[in-house]
Amino acid sequence: MIAKIIVDIPTMQTNRTFDYEVPVELAEVIQKGVRVEVPFGRRKIQGFVDELVDDSDFSGKLKPISNIIDIQPVLNDEMLQLSKWMADTTYSFRISSLQTMLPNVMRAKYHQIAIVKDETIKNDSLFAGDDQVEITDKLTKEDLLKLKKYKINGQIDVVYVVENRAKKKTISAIVNHKSPMDLENISATLPKNAKSKMKLISYFIDNPNSTTAINDLVKLLKVSRSVITGVVKDGIFEKVELETYRSPINQYEEENKSHILNEEQTHAVNDIVESTLQNKNDVFLIEGVTGSGKTEVYLNSIQRVLDNKQTALMLVPEISLTPQMVNRVSARFKDDVAVLHSGLSNGERYDEWRRIERGEAKVVVGARSAIFAPLTNLGVIIIDEEHESSYKQEENPRYHARDIAIWRGKYNHCPVVLGSATPSLESRARAQKGVYHLIRMKKRVNDMDLPAVKIVDMRDSQNASEAGDFSQELIDSIQRTINNNEQAVLMLNKRGYSAFLMCRECGDVLKCPNCDVSLTVHKDSHSLKCHYCGFEHSIPKNCPNCNSDKLRSHGTGTQKVQEQLQKIFPSINILRMDVDTTSKKGSHSKILNKFAKKEASILLGTQMIAKGLDFPDVTLVGVINADTTLAISDFRASERTFQLLTQVSGRAGRANKAGHVIVQTYNPDHYAIQLAATHDYESFYKHEMYIRHRSDYPPFYYTTLITVTHQYENKALKKAFEIKNILNRDLIDEVIILGPTPGTISKINNRYYYQIILKYKNQNAVHEVLTQLLIDTQKDIQNGYRISIDKEPQQLN
Ligand code: ADP
Ligand code: ZN
Ligand code: ZN
Repeated sequence: MIAKIIVDIPTMQTNRTFDYEVPVELAEVIQKGVRVEVPFGRRKIQGFVDELVDDSDFSGKLKPISNIIDIQPVLNDEMLQLSKWMADTTYSFRISSLQTMLPNVMRAKYHQIAIVKDETIKNDSLFAGDDQVEITDKLTKEDLLKLKKYKINGQIDVVYVVENRAKKKTISAIVNHKSPMDLENISATLPKNAKSKMKLISYFIDNPNSTTAINDLVKLLKVSRSVITGVVKDGIFEKVELETYRSPINQYEEENKSHILNEEQTHAVNDIVESTLQNKNDVFLIEGVTGSGKTEVYLNSIQRVLDNKQTALMLVPEISLTPQMVNRVSARFKDDVAVLHSGLSNGERYDEWRRIERGEAKVVVGARSAIFAPLTNLGVIIIDEEHESSYKQEENPRYHARDIAIWRGKYNHCPVVLGSATPSLESRARAQKGVYHLIRMKKRVNDMDLPAVKIVDMRDSQNASEAGDFSQELIDSIQRTINNNEQAVLMLNKRGYSAFLMCRECGDVLKCPNCDVSLTVHKDSHSLKCHYCGFEHSIPKNCPNCNSDKLRSHGTGTQKVQEQLQKIFPSINILRMDVDTTSKKGSHSKILNKFAKKEASILLGTQMIAKGLDFPDVTLVGVINADTTLAISDFRASERTFQLLTQVSGRAGRANKAGHVIVQTYNPDHYAIQLAATHDYESFYKHEMYIRHRSDYPPFYYTTLITVTHQYENKALKKAFEIKNILNRDLIDEVIILGPTPGTISKINNRYYYQIILKYKNQNAVHEVLTQLLIDTQKDIQNGYRISIDKEPQQLN
């Protein structure tokens, strides 16, 4: 038997399967989709079995597989096929695609071990009498030098060993194999004072067939661990290790509120479920205003899919994976739910993955990468807030979860549901053409009105207050809200708008030495940080340029706004939610719980608070600065602004109290702001389509971004021009080639960025040329270049 294997080396030369012989002793246990350890060159590395065949085209002698890591496949047929498609369409490697699909812990970790060949060096302190030593970064420089010398002299061998980090968590338990009669007899022979032992034995006389966790026995019988160890030693009972899960959700705080669906909701659910029952792979786009009950539609569809003995997958953006959302789903589907989000430890993630893979969890809710959840028999795939750019992975493989969902829908013959109050133009245009089925939900549940939005022109000096960032209008509204014992959500639109340090004397802005960006002021830690490379420095007293002591912080941070706000409302509790206050695990939910319990009247936050929050007493939403998203130099700037304003406005007046919104802006006449204020997605869509059409942008054209980076600027630039020339030669004339231009941030982490943008209508013509480019530029990697091809980038500057 021959195994075709994808090896763990992400290069173009190794981006194919390699044939290995399956040794007789492994022939019975090997399967497609298992991980194996194979010799490759002089190393041992991990690989995935892609196929098992009888013959090989390879003429030489095949090397045998060294070991099998998994007893059962970690990748099923669907995933193996998907990885091929994904690697091809995202210009990445098969191995990267396969690894992206699996929990982190299943990625190979290699140990390097030096094995002594020449006995005379065994007494070297390095080996401490042993005949091998692991080569880690803990070894001193001298030791490493020594090893290098031994290697050159042929006195040691260096081997690589693959470690399987996917460890299952176990708990110790006691199991009884004896009959109650035997146990009675044993008990009779014990001395009178062995009370605890007798307690244990009588427990198993009463529960003869039980396997009980040691922890439970200790609690239940109030016996000590040493007694338990004792009976095991005596051979009365046996100790076993039971596999268990690290369960991330353990309490259901939210009660299960299911509602009788209204007419719009009923229609939507029926359409979706109809498609499930007929095994059709329709794509639905639900365009539903905030609070129209979309989530309720998802949950009901999932219920119907479960009733049909199928499984369901639901994606939400990472930030909307709030405890509120997770609880809502968990309360409905209890133990059937697995949750995958970035807050899980690697172990927890692996355990959730195993529950899914074994068919124990039938509903998966998670962020982007949950799209690879190994559910079988899928009945529906749902993507909430489908317009969110976070569904696109910004590093290799640069996949979009929406594309993967549609692929899986086809494979599983099940519908895909995309939902949003502000669909992406790409999806909405597809629905226009009839490629997707459009479902519109125009009303809020219970016929509540959408909140009234007031635009406050900040250019007008009358609106400016003493407090700087707050208009009198907003201050008055907050005051009224507080008087009514209601709550306010205030958003500071922080995109590219953090506080930076500037010298008032010479105008110098403190920048990161590695990147071409200004450093952000963090008051809590009294430091300056680079958000790109992590560079950190304490806040200097004097200007590094002119040595004056007039360094001042500029730009508005949430902390600064909180201070202002506290001055205006000294006795009011304010909760702040931003990267600084949510960096600790669980802090996010703590803040929201406090707000839910009305321990604070104001929740002040960044974009983080715009999504998913559903608090009945929130009647006021204030947007402190609407303009920063407009200012980014991306053709999607208007779309992003419209989406953000609509989302955050949707937090107001969701229950039975009317809500209103105040938007402070310096661009009061901009159509994105005007149309968000009237909740008019359809008009925004039409207007924005007109602009995209005029400027040849998506959804009228496809785009691809090619980025070239190098440590030396002139090299990056030169290579970018070389690539442009190749593209000019090979691509058909209809393809528009822009650039090369420096990246918006031309230097990150001491590397220079140049980019080329392609705009085109015919995907096939471009795909072949770009695949060839990927192959041809492989040799450049050795010379320090990095070249990436990003199809449909979500960040285009
Ligand atoms: P969306 O996801 O569109 O923003 P949700 O599904 O979160 O809307 O619904 C908004 C609120 O209305 C939630 O608090 C939800 O519990 C409630 N709700 C949803 N459907 C109904 C219904 N049919 N009847 C009454 N309340 C409902
Ligand atoms: Zn200065
Ligand atoms: Zn930096």
